[in-house]
Amino acid sequence: MNSSQGKLIIFSAPSGSGKSTLVQHLINEVPGFAFSISATSRAPRGTEKDGVDYYFLSNEAFQQRVAEEAFLEWEEVYPGMSYGTLKSEVKKNWDTGNAVGFDIDVVGGKNLKALYGEQALALFIQAPSIEELERRLIARGTDSNDKIKQRIEKASWEMDQAAFFDHCIINDDLDRAKAEAKKLLIEFLAK
Ligand code: 5GP
Repeated sequence: MNSSQGKLIIFSAPSGSGKSTLVQHLINEVPGFAFSISATSRAPRGTEKDGVDYYFLSNEAFQQRVAEEAFLEWEEVYPGMSYGTLKSEVKKNWDTGNAVGFDIDVVGGKNLKALYGEQALALFIQAPSIEELERRLIARGTDSNDKIKQRIEKASWEMDQAAFFDHCIINDDLDRAKAEAKKLLIEFLAK
């Protein structure tokens, strides 16, 4: 077993905090690190592709996977929209010798950290403020006003959960946040 195998890196953040950009950067920059593709019952957004961004499932198919105990964890992150980490994704990446990264909501992140302890590095990505989060979600232009409102309401609670994570990265300057995340990740993978 190499030093990446069997390790988990959790990225949790309120929607719109720039987590996906950060994660994409790390995938390109850090060897031995692959990403777990989650399953979701929400519809694809913009240019999202099945099997690349998510495994997009109907509600029935998602519940079927729940019944089969195919998920390591799952959550109804927003009303009527469930998201889950498939056990098969984690195994696939570990089997190829990679550490596995998770882009996961705050509750899921806390659950995975509790399950895996020292095997997991739990990073909380914080946007500078709720106002900035709202501005970014509006600028992204992929969600309706109702969806944005829902995400902002949830974000206020999520921002208070940072203390449960190993590190909190404040994403006020993307280049600085990228460098900080990369350093933490490389140190963790070398352990
Ligand atoms: P979005 O709809 O913006 O892609 O994601 C909404 C939220 O669901 C984000 O906070 C994202 O991190 C979270 N999420 C994505 N995949 C999973 C998963 O497998 N499990 C959990 N618990 N949350 C997830």
